[in-house]
Amino acid sequence: MRFDELARAYERLEATSKRLEMRATLVELIRPIRPPDLAKVLYLSQGMLRPEYEGVELGVADSLARRAIATATGVPEPEVVRRTKASGDLGTTAGELLDAARRGEPERPLSVANVYAELMAVAEAKGPGSQETKVGTLVDLLGRASPIEGKYLVRFVLGTLRVGVREMTILDALSVAFADGSKAARTRIEAAFNLSSDLGLVAGALVEHGVDGLDAIGLEVGRPIRPMLAEREPTLAAVLERMGGTAALEFKYDGLRVQAHVAVDGRVTLFSRRLENISLQFPELLADLPHAVTRRPCIVEGECVPIDLDTGDIQPFQLVSKRRGRKYDLEQAQVDLPVRLFLFDVLLDAGTPTYSRPFPERRAALEALVRPNDHVALAAQRVVTTVEEATAFLDEAISAGGEGVMAKSVKEGSAYRAGARGYWWIKYKRDYTVGLSDSIDGVVVGAFHGRGRRAGKFGAFLLATYDPKRDRFETFTKVGSGFDDAQLAEMPGRLARFATDTPPSGVESGIVPDRWFRPGLVIEVRGAELTVSPIHRAEVGAVRAGAGLALRFPRFTGRFRDDKGPTEATTSHELLEMYRKQVRQEAASDDTAGDDRA
Ligand code: AMP
Repeated sequence: MRFDELARAYERLEATSKRLEMRATLVELIRPIRPPDLAKVLYLSQGMLRPEYEGVELGVADSLARRAIATATGVPEPEVVRRTKASGDLGTTAGELLDAARRGEPERPLSVANVYAELMAVAEAKGPGSQETKVGTLVDLLGRASPIEGKYLVRFVLGTLRVGVREMTILDALSVAFADGSKAARTRIEAAFNLSSDLGLVAGALVEHGVDGLDAIGLEVGRPIRPMLAEREPTLAAVLERMGGTAALEFKYDGLRVQAHVAVDGRVTLFSRRLENISLQFPELLADLPHAVTRRPCIVEGECVPIDLDTGDIQPFQLVSKRRGRKYDLEQAQVDLPVRLFLFDVLLDAGTPTYSRPFPERRAALEALVRPNDHVALAAQRVVTTVEEATAFLDEAISAGGEGVMAKSVKEGSAYRAGARGYWWIKYKRDYTVGLSDSIDGVVVGAFHGRGRRAGKFGAFLLATYDPKRDRFETFTKVGSGFDDAQLAEMPGRLARFATDTPPSGVESGIVPDRWFRPGLVIEVRGAELTVSPIHRAEVGAVRAGAGLALRFPRFTGRFRDDKGPTEATTSHELLEMYRKQVRQEAASDDTAGDDRA
């Protein structure tokens, strides 16, 4: 196929924004094309050389393209710059200059295959001297391009192709050009795309083997599946009703979605929700995942969250986002900002696709597949049938650092629906728009052994507020963050005189720490917000029966309140007031959350 046919089609596509017209133009363009040109045309039309997940980039900056245009047309670079200021686009300038330079000369047609191979060479040029290679290849291409070809070539390499054909339009066009255009055909084409994330592959199979041939496109390790997406409901009652009375609830972890492919030889590829290859960002997952699965090859999915390895506590999402997109210090980052991947689905198990099985079967397979370690765990899950059970589980999720719950259908048809959003998965979360500005003075009543860097020391402390009415101390949080090494080293000495082997009298706690302390030491903490928790005891029953108040994402501020005795610590009632204030602020700032917990 000649490249100028493609360039002319781009001109027509650019001139319309109507989906139907675009589709018609695309159909006309692709109908006569056969593999292997077809895949190339489809990738090029989306401004890419390969399917997006491969992340192939040209690495051509404006300055490099300007140099290539200047050399190819013999026009000095400042003139190229001046003209671009006027035209607003380097592609247009390239077209104009080629037009002027080439007047009267015969055209030597470029083919799509030619152009594609040269552009691949540009993308593949890496390392020292690569800039020269890129310029040289572009000069060569532009030297042979007609004005309209030059215009689109330049736009393509700069990533400014304004043709605007999206995946869905291409799928439409494929079904008209190479099938009967029916809804059924369109659905099957899209399904093949959702499983393979590769339009070129789908188009090739369709042309060569027809719609039935698409069934042969399955999962492949190293090729991502488009993720299944969730709907939302405003209340847990609505969630349960939608699911027909029974749902598997999971913690909704707040982190990065990761699709992990583990090959037979243990090689791991990680994809983000947008299917970018993010393998290099998380060396600890590359190392630990092969040991965490008992069968290979497999494809599993989970949420990657920052974790405090010493305490096992989930940390705020912001910390994991610091890991994304990092290019340097990756080794240090895994020490400073460790993550844990909470797995919630399995799509390929020992080489056998599982995605079309009902969710309970997939969960059972996942549990049999995964052997948790420091960096890999299973998403917490419970099957519930009542709003009370669901609410209790939500409270657990929030206290554990989750942002809500994810409800999953357990019905017969609950397959993994790649690329689709539907009520088979329903998210229920709260928006944390309002932070907690007040600090809290908590009484240390227990401590937990540290792990990792904190092995042999205390890693976290159980804190209580004081309830003067009942003269007792009620736990509200477990804090491990915010201590520097020196402060941590001080703690045993500060606490020694309060140590006791049995639960101290006057302390109400839903958890048993490794060591108990009589109320004595007061420390200042801050947190993200207050929530209702089944395991803490502050103002138990005030908001809901059986549940106390708890502080999420607590951090030691660094202040020991040596000026305060335990009965001068923050009171449970003050905590309740803070909670109420926060709920009022949330109600004022958020009219859609439909929070049925307060
Ligand atoms: P949202 O990003 O708010 O639309 O919520 C959907 C996202 O929640 C998914 O894409 C996952 O990244 C994330 N998530 C966290 N925990 C789970 C879970 N247990 N199951 C499925 N998705 C989860």
